[in-house]
Amino acid sequence: MTTQIQTMRTVAGIINSVQTLEGEGMLVRRPFPKSSFTDFDPFLLLDEFGPVDVELGKAKGAPDHPHRGFETVTYILEGRVEHKDSQGHAGKLSAGDVQWMTAGAGVVHSEMPDREFARTGGRVHGLQLWVNLPRRDKMMKPRYQEIPSAKIPTAQTNDGLVKVKVIAGEALGAKAVIETQTPIMYLHFTLQPDAIAVQPVPKEYNAFIYVLDGEGLFGAEKERAGDGQMVLFAQDGEEVAIANPSNAKSPLDVLLIAGVPLNEPVVRYGPFVMNTEAEIIQAIDDYRNGRMGSIDF
Ligand code: FE
Repeated sequence: MTTQIQTMRTVAGIINSVQTLEGEGMLVRRPFPKSSFTDFDPFLLLDEFGPVDVELGKAKGAPDHPHRGFETVTYILEGRVEHKDSQGHAGKLSAGDVQWMTAGAGVVHSEMPDREFARTGGRVHGLQLWVNLPRRDKMMKPRYQEIPSAKIPTAQTNDGLVKVKVIAGEALGAKAVIETQTPIMYLHFTLQPDAIAVQPVPKEYNAFIYVLDGEGLFGAEKERAGDGQMVLFAQDGEEVAIANPSNAKSPLDVLLIAGVPLNEPVVRYGPFVMNTEAEIIQAIDDYRNGRMGSIDF
């Protein structure tokens, strides 16, 4: 009898994105949620908006809307987004910047293309991830972490073939500056052709990859996935393997996102994600009666 120590995670499935329109009509690719795949504990949603060339004066965004019970993580790759919220925060996100917003008990915010950008048009590309909050944090005071691109740690292998931007967690010796409520890993890897990255991911984490550009080979069995696909890993090892084949014509750009499952009931209704129906009814009531505030500046 032999005991095999499985360290490299295998692939549990490949998920295709659906195209949908959000806010005022921004085209997004969404691997989840959908009816056949509602969430991947602790993650509730992933949207890739663009890349799309916005015509002159036609930039779309998401006007005032509420959130309660989870976190929204916005990562801009191209273009500029302006945001405002009921806590009195306002800011602009440009290429490479990240906003980690812990909605907690509730905020009302707007996410719009910046005014000048809306006038001139241009390319918009970015991502939004929803991270669920554990019961103990759902009603916490809202919190914002806004990290400009220059402050997001990066690292690369000695041969320069693998580069990583560390938005949350740790990779290639670099540690994120963003603090998360529960352990989360959010890494943006870029691999040149013929490069392999092996990222440690603790066994208790749920882990997935979203392919932004190119086509790669993933997991112990080298499953193929490309642009717009999500690779789900089984919880059967402590490393995730990413490879860009030697015959690839372009770099492989992926997000590796992982987190410890909450294992709590998820009751969601649009922008509210709670543990019970009663808490959702309360959230709707609080929002309708202005208890999440409004944007009045
Ligand atoms: Fe929002």
